[in-house]
Amino acid sequence: MTSREPALPLYHLGGRCRSIPGPVRTVLLGATGSIGTQTVDLALQHPGEIRLEGLTTRSRVADLAVLVKRLEDVGAADRPWISVLDIDAHAAAAADPILSRRLLPPGEDGLLAAAGLEGVDCVVNGLVGAAGLAPTLVAAERGRRLALANKESLVIGGGLVAEAVRRGGAEVIPVDSEHSALAQCLCGRSPEELESLILTASGGPCRDWDAVQLANASRADVLAHPTWEMGPKITVDSATLMNKGLEVIEAHVLFGVAYDAIDVVVHPGSVVHSLAVFRDGAMMAQLGAPDMRVPLLYAITGERHLPLATDRIDLKALGALRFAAPDEERFPCLRLARDAGRAGGRMTIALNAANEEAVAAFLADRVGFLDIPRIIASTLDSTEPADVSDLETALAYDREARRLAKERIPTL
Ligand code: NAD
Ligand code: MG
Repeated sequence: MTSREPALPLYHLGGRCRSIPGPVRTVLLGATGSIGTQTVDLALQHPGEIRLEGLTTRSRVADLAVLVKRLEDVGAADRPWISVLDIDAHAAAAADPILSRRLLPPGEDGLLAAAGLEGVDCVVNGLVGAAGLAPTLVAAERGRRLALANKESLVIGGGLVAEAVRRGGAEVIPVDSEHSALAQCLCGRSPEELESLILTASGGPCRDWDAVQLANASRADVLAHPTWEMGPKITVDSATLMNKGLEVIEAHVLFGVAYDAIDVVVHPGSVVHSLAVFRDGAMMAQLGAPDMRVPLLYAITGERHLPLATDRIDLKALGALRFAAPDEERFPCLRLARDAGRAGGRMTIALNAANEEAVAAFLADRVGFLDIPRIIASTLDSTEPADVSDLETALAYDREARRLAKERIPTL
């Protein structure tokens, strides 16, 4: 195997996703986003099982006040702690009758205070991007269950998260649908039984486009995802296949499986969420409707499979399942991510930082779709591999890679 292995996989193979008896006292980071509002919906469906002790937003104060009111009306929250990152939005929260009751300081101080609140069982990290790493580390050090949607935490800080988890005695349960599927397939299995992992990819909205169409793909084209409704950044990542590249790194860090043993297959229907292959050739898959509330509920409450009102897959109506190889010529981000993952440390930080900057520039109509892999490849070419031993070093490498990526983005 060519890849270096993490010292210990984060997700304890042979273990189980322990059930936490309700109400699971939960902090929700990124409450107003796609993952956040779906978590709120679960608490509204199951107020006796999930109780929100803290909620955060970057700036969407009015939306957050509505969510808190609805949670309190069903008894799924009672004067929860609130963190608002943006300073102007924080001032608005301080004037809001619901949010001002228990308001943490603005900025990262308040966000980290929310991640480390006392008397909490579970922290759901639904933040987007590298900003999710520091709160992940705080929750891990405090020994919480981390229901981790923020895959960037593991991509840029896998080793740091593993150390914090060991020190704090935390458990990381993936929320990403592919990794939740794998966690469910691997539950109770011992590591030596496992041979390889297969991640499924929808292929995104531009799956069948040729090079000319891809060069002209607009923001609106790319945001029209065929099977999943998600935040804008991950939706663009799905279209470039960078999302699957980040998920290969995430799977390597979580399950301790070598890169050569993590395959990706395009599966347009998003019915099979991923597969584990065992040493006797047996394959186990997890199937279901594409609905993030399924992996979220599993991660927060454990392997009880609580009732959930969501679509059921009608296999007779479906008829067939389609699979195909990904095209790494048209979608080079998958290969860029694998290579960065193999190099590890600083290279995965540079990959992620350059991707975040390139995606932001694409969403602002400043670069084209095919410029995204170009900016990332060129940033990686200018980056020297290095190990990462602490958060400060990780953040310094992140800033440097963003600077390199921005140099490659035309100014207005
Ligand atoms: P989103 O953009 O809808 O929501 C992001 C949330 O984070 C918002 O509440 C926002 O206020 C907050 N936020 C953004 N930047 C912040 C910052 N710098 N500091 C503090 N808070 C900040 O994103 P999303 O689609 O919900 O995705 C969240 C994470 O979950 C991502 O890592 C994504 O890859 C992962 N994920 C999402 C889905 C999905 O269905 N949406 C599926 C799988 C994985
Ligand atoms: Mg996913």
